[in-house]
Amino acid sequence: MPTPRLFDSAARAAGQAATKLAKDPQALLDAANLNLTDLARSKVLARLQQMPKAFRRTYLAALKGTRRQAAIRSFCLMCMGWQRTEVPLCTDPACPLYPYRLAAVIGKPTATP
Ligand code: SF4
Repeated sequence: MPTPRLFDSAARAAGQAATKLAKDPQALLDAANLNLTDLARSKVLARLQQMPKAFRRTYLAALKGTRRQAAIRSFCLMCMGWQRTEVPLCTDPACPLYPYRLAAVIGKPTATP
């Protein structure tokens, strides 16, 4: 029995829409439906435009204020210039986020230096 083509085209369309959304910071910010002032909105949009596309959804999840791990992950990634591989190599045990950085990035318990 052949696979229904309707499902294929619907899934493809959904995937294309999600990809298009991730590429457009303005649309992504609109879809996040955050309660922001105009000034805050312009700052968030500027930050979204500066970061790699792959981290935009996590950043917006952090701004909603309901996901601490997303906030830690985003902050550490910003701190390390959006280089994911650098976060586990952080050399600042004095940072209050240091014990949480690995769990926030790769979901594993952290080790102390
Ligand atoms: S734990 Fe390290 S990477 Fe994360 S914010 Fe602190 S200094 Fe930056």
